[in-house]
Amino acid sequence: WAQMIGYTKEKLEPFTFDTWKKMIHPEDLQKCLNKIQEHFSDKSSRYECQFRMNHKKGHYIWIQDKGKVFGKTQEGKPLLMYGTHQDITQTKEASEQLERFFSLNLDLLCIADTDGNFIKVNKVWEKILGYTVEELEKRKFLEFVHPDDVESTLKAISKLSDQIIVTGFTNRYRAKDGSYRYFEWYSQPYNKLIYAVARDVTERINNQETLQESEEKFRLMFQYSPVGIFNFDKNGVLLDVNDNFVNIIGSSRKALIGLNMMNLPDKKLVRAVEEALNGRQGYYNDEYHPVTSNKSVYVKGVFTSIKDNEGNFVVGIGIFEDISEQKKNEKALIKAKEEAQAANRAKSDFLASMSHEIRTPINGVIGFSDLLKSTPLNDTQREYNDIVRQSANSLLGIINDILDFSKIEAGKFELQYEKTNLYATIDSALNLLNYKTLEKDIELLQSGSRNMPEFVYTDPLRLRQILLNLLSNAVKFTDKGEVELVVKKLNENPQKKLVRIYFAVKDTGIGIKEDQIQRILEPFNQGDNINTNKFEGTGLGLAITKTLLEKMGSQLTIESTFGKGSTFSFELRLKYYDSKPKEVLIVDEKRGTEEKDTESDTIGKKILIVEDNKINMQYLETVLRAENKNLTVLNAYDGETALDLFKKERPDAIFMDIQLPKMNGYEVTKRIRLMDKEIPIIAITARASSPSLPSKPF
Ligand code: ADP
Repeated sequence: WAQMIGYTKEKLEPFTFDTWKKMIHPEDLQKCLNKIQEHFSDKSSRYECQFRMNHKKGHYIWIQDKGKVFGKTQEGKPLLMYGTHQDITQTKEASEQLERFFSLNLDLLCIADTDGNFIKVNKVWEKILGYTVEELEKRKFLEFVHPDDVESTLKAISKLSDQIIVTGFTNRYRAKDGSYRYFEWYSQPYNKLIYAVARDVTERINNQETLQESEEKFRLMFQYSPVGIFNFDKNGVLLDVNDNFVNIIGSSRKALIGLNMMNLPDKKLVRAVEEALNGRQGYYNDEYHPVTSNKSVYVKGVFTSIKDNEGNFVVGIGIFEDISEQKKNEKALIKAKEEAQAANRAKSDFLASMSHEIRTPINGVIGFSDLLKSTPLNDTQREYNDIVRQSANSLLGIINDILDFSKIEAGKFELQYEKTNLYATIDSALNLLNYKTLEKDIELLQSGSRNMPEFVYTDPLRLRQILLNLLSNAVKFTDKGEVELVVKKLNENPQKKLVRIYFAVKDTGIGIKEDQIQRILEPFNQGDNINTNKFEGTGLGLAITKTLLEKMGSQLTIESTFGKGSTFSFELRLKYYDSKPKEVLIVDEKRGTEEKDTESDTIGKKILIVEDNKINMQYLETVLRAENKNLTVLNAYDGETALDLFKKERPDAIFMDIQLPKMNGYEVTKRIRLMDKEIPIIAITARASSPSLPSKPF
């Protein structure tokens, strides 16, 4: 006993109860005294206690102390007691180590019995399930197992009861918050006890489930996708195809899987697969003829590949969309569009040739009523003749508009740019309207700056047409007050020789309602006037003007107050010239008449008229003879006769219609020019195809 704590028996003498008490660890002493007291008062048949005793070397050793009273006083109080000490330090430490190990382990550890009771669990259970160790140790573990897993758990227990080790068994345990955790078990039986280690695999299982779910989703997408999907390996061999791909290709899965796309005859497709095999995106958009069927199908395809982290090819993916229907619709649409365009062209051609056909006789009417004017007429006849002439003139205006418009619509319209005298163009437009304003009680004014360049580069006939359209509208829709043409220079760039000019036609007429302003720009739209019939017109003037301006890079602006008047304006950016160009295009009509030949110059002269229209022929001849009675006039009604007459008669000048039967005017002219380079040939035509020709054919 003494040696146990490093002493000899002598060293401890005199040995009393106090000597014993002193050697005991202060924390353990009270516990021992209590136990002794219990035994003394017969509450226990024996005394037993574990405590630490101070060793002579200073450390503590664990003692298992056992004792019993064996002699009592007459009063029954304990008198004598024997006891033993056993050094249990080693055992104690081993179990402490075990306990430490048990509580420090990161896995779930437990000891249970085969009746289903927890006996001991470690702290990890607290962390994972949220129950305290005490709460768990009191209960049956089956209470925590997911109802669906109870059966399999019971089976595992029965195996353990048969002393069989159970590994890899997974079940779900309910946590305090009601959620379930997956535990994977390793359990070992030892008689009626089970020693088990479990690991929380909830995360792994959840991940697995999500993976499975997403795999399932992709599988479904693959299978039921409205497009054809297929996989291929690094050699371009088809590994898998979905149902729709089979449908699109019109073949069978069996025939397709294993097919090497690199051997297909369609080179475009092979190239697209190659792109994907080289890690890029390949595209296909064409009519495809599958080798596995005799179908032909328009497809749009994308080829790509999936790579691993190192960039190695894993698998190729292709997507095919059947666009046959779309192509069919596209073709139908193109056909419909072409048909519509052809119909539109036919309409425009019809309009153009009809206008041309109408123009020829109208010219006859105008021409002959002109001639009629110079014959003796009485007042009534003169008045009637004027009406005929006016009506024919306005009919000609309408026809000209329709002709222009149909040309624009048919896309045949081009501007003819040339050096132009700007002032002359403006003046000629104003002059043409002067007589109309005289008939009405309105004034025609011109204002603005005259510091503009005289010569610019533009299409003079079209510019005049724009001004005429706007001015004649202004005059038409104004009963009193004035119509004013404003022309102003806005700015000028002398380096680039560019000038910006503002044009405006202002009137004090009937004005336009706000809601009509946009509408009157549409073809055949006459605003509100359409119902009144008061103003004549076709509703084409502004539509043509607008298009002409757009072609010139400008736009028409309309400002108007209903009942008060309107302003139509636009701006033009024009290139200008400092010097007078050689060619002055706007011919002063008066000067032209002043410079006419004297009769003596034309004595004995021969004129050849080539014209298939009898009336025109007669008119031309009459006009020429009216000017000069000494002329010899030769008539040719077709090209061939014209050539014969030319060779035979060698005339001094030729009037040449362009449209002729058998051989047209251009051809005849070409042949004459081979023989004679000097003779003047004057074209006469109702088809004003070149703007350098005068707008009136005669
Ligand atoms: P048209 O004069 O042949 O009817 P336009 O295209 O030139 O065709 O003009 C379309 C319509 O615009 C006219 O019918 C008229 O209602 C309106 N309009 C054009 N100019 C004026 C104007 N100066 N004043 C009032 N209304 C105008």
